[in-house]
Amino acid sequence: SAKEKGGDRFSFYEEGMSSETERRLEMEKYLRHAIERDEFKLYYQPVINLENNRLRGVEVLLRWQNSALNNPTPDHFIAVAEQSGLIVGIGKWVLEHACQQVMAWTRSGLPALSVAVNISAKQFTDGDIVENVRYALQQSGLPAAQLELEITEGLLINDTPEIRDTFKQLKALGIHLSLDDFGTGYASLSYLKRYPFDSLKIDRSFVSDIDSCGDSVTLTNAIIAMGHSFNMKVIAEGVENLNQRRILREHHCDMVQGFLYSPPIPAEQFVAWAKRYADMQTSQHV
Ligand code: C2E
Ligand code: MG
Ligand code: MG
Ligand code: MG
Repeated sequence: SAKEKGGDRFSFYEEGMSSETERRLEMEKYLRHAIERDEFKLYYQPVINLENNRLRGVEVLLRWQNSALNNPTPDHFIAVAEQSGLIVGIGKWVLEHACQQVMAWTRSGLPALSVAVNISAKQFTDGDIVENVRYALQQSGLPAAQLELEITEGLLINDTPEIRDTFKQLKALGIHLSLDDFGTGYASLSYLKRYPFDSLKIDRSFVSDIDSCGDSVTLTNAIIAMGHSFNMKVIAEGVENLNQRRILREHHCDMVQGFLYSPPIPAEQFVAWAKRYADMQTSQHV
């Protein structure tokens, strides 16, 4: 046991454990009140159709403005939200506000955009995701075909009849389902034929070195070909330069998103971005 290894080491170990736990509990305490204190904000990243360079839609990314915790990034607070179960309520808030925002844009004259929302496995297993989606669509008026849920392989590791049934119900609503962070998880590839995904997102880690590494090109090419053979659209995330975009286009990747076009931005900035992007296209024919 740790105690046998010496008193000093034992107390050091204990302290390390408790400060980590304390940090998480501290964050959880703030997270519990984040919605009522109006601390969440949705950012939007454009998704571009590579075939015609048109704006296809947006991915919604959650931001938490909490100065006491120095504005934690999603990689930190989403994990705490998942462990504490708070993600169920937060996810519902994200879904509803994202649908409302995109419908408001459509009503104000922007072309009908698709909206991709990240969904945690906990929202499938501990929440009522089907009811949440139905409600978000109904109260916003957003057509179901414009909503896309992004799910990661983690959910599919436990392949249960309940999860398959939830997928069927979501598809029956008319929304799109996409597999996020493809290639980074440990699930079996056989789920691709069992789950009705409409699209597959190539993880940023593959895209980031396709312009410098032949193996990454081979891998990306194989992912695109496999996606297409399952009748899925393929989206590449983390596209930062023209060289990466050229390679992806050569391999018939369907859609791209990344800093090359825009980082995630607040709703107020997004409308101006979309206007500038459309103007640039009509003037340059890119
Ligand atoms: P993700 O779903 O894979 O989202 C893509 C991440 O890549 C985002 O990080 C985005 O800002 C970043 N990104 C996009 N383009 C580029 C690029 O060209 N270069 C680089 N270096 N990064 C790029 P972000 O916003 O920090 O979110 C991290 C993760 O947190 C997301 O990964 C997603 O899994 C999770 N997340 C964010 N918002 C939500 C949410 O509302 N609900 C849930 N359940 N998870 C969320
Ligand atoms: Mg995503
Ligand atoms: Mg994700
Ligand atoms: Mg991703």
